[in-house]
Amino acid sequence: MKPFSYERALSPAQAAAAVAARPGARFLAGGTNLLDLMKLQIETPTHLVDVNGLALDKIEATADGGLRIGALVRNADLAADARVRRDYGVLSRALVAGASGQLRNMATTAGNLLQRTRCPYFYDTNMPCNKRVPGSGCSALGGFSRLHAIVGSSEACIATHPSDMAVALRALDATVETVRGDGATRVIPIADFHRLPGNTPHIDTNLHAGELITSVTLPRPVGGTQLYHKVRDRASYAFAIVSVAAIIQRDGTGRVALGGVSHKPWRVEAAESEMPRGARAVAAGLLAGAQPTHENAFKVPLAERTLAAVMNQARS
Ligand code: SF4
Repeated sequence: MKPFSYERALSPAQAAAAVAARPGARFLAGGTNLLDLMKLQIETPTHLVDVNGLALDKIEATADGGLRIGALVRNADLAADARVRRDYGVLSRALVAGASGQLRNMATTAGNLLQRTRCPYFYDTNMPCNKRVPGSGCSALGGFSRLHAIVGSSEACIATHPSDMAVALRALDATVETVRGDGATRVIPIADFHRLPGNTPHIDTNLHAGELITSVTLPRPVGGTQLYHKVRDRASYAFAIVSVAAIIQRDGTGRVALGGVSHKPWRVEAAESEMPRGARAVAAGLLAGAQPTHENAFKVPLAERTLAAVMNQARS
């Protein structure tokens, strides 16, 4: 591990200013992804700004009937919150499907959104990877790509985003609140938070340098049957091959987002108008233009079948 300096943040804006002021500085919260990346020297921060002491660990009702989730709320606490379990079941289920119990006890809401891809070439510093070293090439193209993206990818990167929580937040139309060093705040719809790779796959989100996530807000509950189904290679502690977050109403309308298929949680609102016609019609809209590799073409029918299973479960 390379040497770095460390400080404890005093306020959200001061933390943002501290990171913005020093090239190579990073926020430290749960550390469940960052510390692994530092040990492998994939991330080599010059300075860590520890935000764990900030009062961003509350889950509070909003004036319009929603919930504001502090950036430091741990994944395990969020999944177990009675209001989340009752009104946002898709989120609670997605959280419990992620990682392991120990990791969920440490991982934070903001950190979950910011975790890096689990593409094996990103973690192998002997291999070219445009996300790790811009311009070096993409080893997954023509390499091992069974778990990679089938939609929204580019010639520079075919990685997927690993978060389960973010897929549920996309179905729930959550928003992400941030603060910058000068105290300016903004609200980012979850749909605009993560980026597709394009020719800049090293940039995962639309956050500015030093911009700190302070909370994630859920709109007022929309009801319906809320399900999260994750297909993976083993029963726990594995990332999604394909996942489906669904909110399905009694009249057959609803919302669907997919995980494990793209560089960001994947939702196509126009496809949801096909829900009364069944999973095949919805999947056709969701995956229009899919460009799988020869190793992961199976994800196209797998996504359709997983969606069909979820829709059938909602009806039963
Ligand atoms: Fe790197 Fe993306 Fe290619 Fe994986 S898919 S090797 S993360 S550029």
